[in-house]
Amino acid sequence: MIAQVTQVLIAFGANLGDRGETIIAAQQALADAPGISEFEASPLHETIAMTIDGPDPDAPRYLNAVARATTTLSAHALLDIMQRIELDHGRVRDVRWGARTLDLDLILYGGRVIKDERLQVPHPRAHERDFVLSPWLALEPGAVLMGHGRVTDLLTRIGDTTQPLTAAIDPDQT
Ligand code: ATP
Ligand code: CA
Ligand code: CA
Repeated sequence: MIAQVTQVLIAFGANLGDRGETIIAAQQALADAPGISEFEASPLHETIAMTIDGPDPDAPRYLNAVARATTTLSAHALLDIMQRIELDHGRVRDVRWGARTLDLDLILYGGRVIKDERLQVPHPRAHERDFVLSPWLALEPGAVLMGHGRVTDLLTRIGDTTQPLTAAIDPDQT
């Protein structure tokens, strides 16, 4: 029997430690995980921290990215792997939306709607987050968020406060 293959979208965020290194390592771990293929990551974008009290310019800024992949894993098995990777990078769960070394969110799992005590997909806040939508648009200009329409339209509506991270070394300038 051929396993069912599902297209997924995963979001990455980090605002403590070596943020870029952590996100790249997490992406590598996911790309290498059994049952995950065709992994493709967006550029990294930098964003002011969003706390439970709103945007906080004094908090360490986030690096964010998204990645597309295909998987033969169930959504819950994929979440297990994502949460193990978070723990491998020292993620401690304390304050809601508090600072963290690594946050992995499952944004989409094919066209599926999932709502249980562990998992809500499509991610219920993705449509209002420039730090998810902006890197996603960079990766996939025609992206559509299930239930909310074109990502480019959503981003125009909410505004984009993120900054694409330019490479430290520009190959054209060397
Ligand atoms: P937000 O969901 O607003 O981005 P958060 O990422 O800070 O908040 P966490 O503390 O990382 O929230 O996760 C809390 C719980 O959310 C996790 O233990 C997980 O079971 C659950 N969860 C529900 N839906 C999802 C999803 N789509 N992706 C990741 N975790 C999810
Ligand atoms: Ca999150
Ligand atoms: Ca999370």
